[in-house]
Amino acid sequence: MLHLKKKLAAGAATLLLGISLAACGGTASETTSTAATTQAAAATTSDARGGGPGGGVDVSSVSSVDELVSLIQEAYGEPSLGLHRGHQDVESTLIEALGISHDEMHVRMDAGQNLATIADEVGVDRQELIDALVATRSPAIDALVDSGTITRAEAEAYSEQLVEAYTFRVTWDGQAATPTVEAV
Ligand SMILES: [Zn+2]
Repeated sequence: MLHLKKKLAAGAATLLLGISLAACGGTASETTSTAATTQAAAATTSDARGGGPGGGVDVSSVSSVDELVSLIQEAYGEPSLGLHRGHQDVESTLIEALGISHDEMHVRMDAGQNLATIADEVGVDRQELIDALVATRSPAIDALVDSGTITRAEAEAYSEQLVEAYTFRVTWDGQAATPTVEAV
């Protein structure tokens, strides 16, 4: 046990790789198939929305309030996927913003660090991380303003909801129940 702890403390990413991928639901092949699924769903129906992170709504094809609400709900992530509430839908943004590998995120998550704590430890401003995450989904809000589906005032309210969602996800304590996003 001591030996194992020592290895973990040393940040043995390879040791944890198998666990990491299993916990994340984001192996390379799964990521690929999810992307394909999202494309297929977008092509066949505008009603595509799934429960898991990155599962349902394509940011670039949101055309209704219902889809936008789902998109913001998905920003909360999925508590069953661990302290980071999943990585798959935000993986590239996390890697870019935090400057660490996906594997290291899992090592740190297994050590009890939420995304805010990781940001603190690697010297990234928490709000910058949240802003980067928000920027991945906010184009959908702009698109609905442009199409006349929502007003600018409504867009402001949805933007606040999106910030709340990612703030919740980044700072999650592992306990708090996921809020439900409502249409404004
Ligand atoms: Zn992951």
